[in-house]
Amino acid sequence: MANNYFYQPVKVYCGEGKLNELSAICLEHGYKRGLLIIDKLFVNNGFADLLIQKCPLLVGVFSDITPNPRLSEVMQAANLLNALQADFAVAIGGGSALDLAKFACSMASAEYDIRDYFYKKRTFDKKGAALIAVPTTAGTGSEVTAVAVCNDEINGVKAPLLHTNFYPSIAVIDPILTLSVPPHITAATGLDALSHALEGYWSVNHNPISDALATESARLIFANLEKAYKYGNDIEARSNMSLAALLAGMAFATPKTAGVHACSYPLSENYGLSHGEACAFTLDSFIRLNATAEEGRVNRLATTLGFADADAMADEVLRLKRVTRMRCSLKAFGIEDIMGLAAASAAHPLMNNNPRKLTVDELIAMYKDIGNG
Ligand code: ZN
Repeated sequence: MANNYFYQPVKVYCGEGKLNELSAICLEHGYKRGLLIIDKLFVNNGFADLLIQKCPLLVGVFSDITPNPRLSEVMQAANLLNALQADFAVAIGGGSALDLAKFACSMASAEYDIRDYFYKKRTFDKKGAALIAVPTTAGTGSEVTAVAVCNDEINGVKAPLLHTNFYPSIAVIDPILTLSVPPHITAATGLDALSHALEGYWSVNHNPISDALATESARLIFANLEKAYKYGNDIEARSNMSLAALLAGMAFATPKTAGVHACSYPLSENYGLSHGEACAFTLDSFIRLNATAEEGRVNRLATTLGFADADAMADEVLRLKRVTRMRCSLKAFGIEDIMGLAAASAAHPLMNNNPRKLTVDELIAMYKDIGNG
């Protein structure tokens, strides 16, 4: 995909109780037969059955979804779409359910082996089934991006795949779905969203539209994350976090993420940190490292958001991490091979989007600082 200035093709429905309008939304778009792709949790607690009763266009359910969706699971969902002759899917869950559904909708009409697409030997030439994406956490922004992170379980490769096909047709943002998210996940996903906002802002590919989305998203997160963590039923805080995660998804969809996400991959793969934990782990460090890059843009963002400077904004991120009991040290995750971690972080392609070029030695110093924190 060539770099656009800005592109956002997803039709967004947003508001408390919006999911109650799912049936009307499907009818309005002429969808006929749908597969519900949903986290197992929502099958076990009866939510999936209730939804099917309310939206009879849904004719099947797929819920075999692991946290990093496997290619075999993507194919099972794609095969089920075909077996049901479904023309659309509704994906409800965290980033994994949405990522799996994006890939599955395209694979349903693809001619070649899934690994040909995963390893970019081929690209999709057909649109695939339409997708309605419904996030249940305020975090990934996957509902408005063209990225799906999946896992080739045979070759042990977890990687993001990007294709315009992967933009959902529709996103339904209903903050009521996030009320039951436990505090730890609220914090981790919220800090992931903050990483999307800040990285969309400081990515070397940023533009004025992504800047505006990122700024408002970060403002909402700084004002609401702690409340959503402490008072899970605070619908105003939850609504603001859902909106913030949506804006952050739009903010990074075109410019892509940078250093924080580059580091998150080896942290997740080698040490098992969840995606949100892994992003939170280095976020305050990158705010400090990027503070003066590009004529001090990050310092200017910090003052726009009411902080004295980028250092003060980083201090607030660190405070939020501590208040929300995120693990903040290398020791907490048993990380000893700092050199290996720094080398893998430096080599990740997303590091090229970081506004300040960092050497392996600088990344070693960063990780050592975190270790002392
Ligand atoms: Zn992320």
